[in-house]
Amino acid sequence: MKKVTLILAAVLAACTLTACGGGSAKESGNTITFGTNPEFPPFEYVTSNGVLGEFDGIDMAIAQKIGEDNGMEVKMESMEFDSLLVALQNGQIDAVIAGMTATDERRETVDFSTPYYTATQVMIVKEDSDIATAADMADKKICVIQGYTGEVCVQDMGYTYEAFKKGTEAIMELVNGKCDVVVLDSATAQKYVSDNEGLKIVEDASAFEAEEYAIAVQKDNTELLNKINASIEKMLADGTINELAVQYTEAASAE
Ligand code: GLN
Repeated sequence: MKKVTLILAAVLAACTLTACGGGSAKESGNTITFGTNPEFPPFEYVTSNGVLGEFDGIDMAIAQKIGEDNGMEVKMESMEFDSLLVALQNGQIDAVIAGMTATDERRETVDFSTPYYTATQVMIVKEDSDIATAADMADKKICVIQGYTGEVCVQDMGYTYEAFKKGTEAIMELVNGKCDVVVLDSATAQKYVSDNEGLKIVEDASAFEAEEYAIAVQKDNTELLNKINASIEKMLADGTINELAVQYTEAASAE
């Protein structure tokens, strides 16, 4: 009887050490699973042959290099921008790379890596628009993308607005004259302006603060955060991230 109990205990112990062990859901062994929303060129978009399967962009190249630096296989899961932080907290993914601004509000639920890119919100308007400052939006029809920092900015300014699921949907409203201004991150706005005739960008540095993009991980997942940070810091120091930004911005405007 005693022997049986011992064997059982041994089996249970072995189980705890292996398959039944805890830890982050997907960062098992040699795989890191990122979540992204590939609706944000030049950072992430879907293409026929991207750097990570169907996914391409600055962030996708950064994710691939983080995997390479740490000898880990990279998996990319596509989901709505709004769902990314929930999926991270649930352990469905290990990290979020999505041109995501490290905000204090988001820091309440997740940890962020060393920032790798600085952006700002800008206003996209028709070429003949009289909007010259953020204050000029007061009596205009404003479009934003749901859950983006642009929505938070417009909300904080106290303006009413309409929120769309995708950047392309908001841009179509503007092109079709159904809205007057789209508030969006600078590099992505630049891409849409070069893709669509008759649009221009209006900046207002006194109304929109600089935003820093960073990779999000689960709170206190220091092990993964350290790996990601070491890789990002290396890529910032040796110019890799700068090169990627130039390469993907040029590729986007040459299309
Ligand atoms: N930088 C913006 C944010 O964090 C938009 C990011 C995105 O759409 N991928 O909300």
